[in-house]
Amino acid sequence: MSQSNRAQILSPALAGLNAYHVQDAAGLVKLDAMENPWPWPAEMQREWLSLLANAELNRYPDPAASALAMSIRRYDQAHADQPILLGNGSDELIQLLMMAMRRGASVLTVEPGFVMYRQLATVCGLNYEAVDLADDFSLPGDALIERIQAVQPELVFLAVPNNPTANCFNGADLCRVIEAAPGLVVIDEAYAPFTERSALPWLAQYPNLIVMRTLSKLGLAGLRLGYLYGDEFWVGELNKLRLPYNINCLTQVTAQFALDYADELATQAEKICDERAALRTSLAAISGLEIFETEANFILFRSNEHSAVQLHAGLRAAGVLVKCMHGSHRLLNDCLRVTVGTPQENQQFIDALQGLLIAA
Ligand SMILES: *Cc1c(COP(=O)(O)O)cnc(C)c1O
Repeated sequence: MSQSNRAQILSPALAGLNAYHVQDAAGLVKLDAMENPWPWPAEMQREWLSLLANAELNRYPDPAASALAMSIRRYDQAHADQPILLGNGSDELIQLLMMAMRRGASVLTVEPGFVMYRQLATVCGLNYEAVDLADDFSLPGDALIERIQAVQPELVFLAVPNNPTANCFNGADLCRVIEAAPGLVVIDEAYAPFTERSALPWLAQYPNLIVMRTLSKLGLAGLRLGYLYGDEFWVGELNKLRLPYNINCLTQVTAQFALDYADELATQAEKICDERAALRTSLAAISGLEIFETEANFILFRSNEHSAVQLHAGLRAAGVLVKCMHGSHRLLNDCLRVTVGTPQENQQFIDALQGLLIAA
């Protein structure tokens, strides 16, 4: 097979795509990926390890992960019979949603937004459409509704709080979108632990609404567990696409154990919110920076006087890894995204940033 023929047996969608890139973080203070910086208390670790010791690795896991699904519903104070679908991270659920759409279906979202929506829509051969957020990163309600009416998207994706901007969208605007959409609306609440807002109460009212969550940002990113709530029809249809054992046995045991310690997880999330406020104050005290609103475990900020690309490189050289957003969207010029870490990590970041700005 010749070089030029090789690509021809593949989906043409792949030609224009790059694999999801993750920055090398070896030896660096890792503030790039919205991870929870806190370990579990020693007692909790010990108890968890004893549970793992008894996990039956020779057996297939419960295909429906029923016990874990029940713990999750309890954790979210959802009804015991609320339909739920578990995924190997919410990324897998985004992929399942895209795979479930008919040929030629359209997916509409906002930009800047979560990059996996575009990636997975494209891989699945769907028509991807995006509306730009307003300059202050709020939802452009009228423009979005107009686009919904023009495109008639089968699927609308909105992350609330949004990544990478960290803000929540106005609730009334979200309801207008759900009401105007001819198909499914997915509200991705990956950052639910760090905000009071949620669309969960709307599920009863809107049969075209799916609410998606994850344990990743709560402190279990390495585990890979996401889930979505929707009505029985959607969950039943999506369940046909799900691989039978997508939630492995170690994840089932560990997630269920962690949710038994929901108080500990909530305490960590509160600590992160406190540190978020402190980090925001420290950033705001540095001149030449514009700090955006946040209801997530990260902060987006703009450097008005220095290149974000250079600051990102300088921070890395000083041992701190953040995410450079410059170049990914016109609204993110000279923007950096920093995850809230421990007080020491945040201080290292602030010291390094100040050092760079003084030297420049
Ligand atoms: C991090 C993130 C996810 C992915 O979560 P996983 O469960 O780790 O796959 C989904 N949506 C948004 C908006 C995110 O920021």
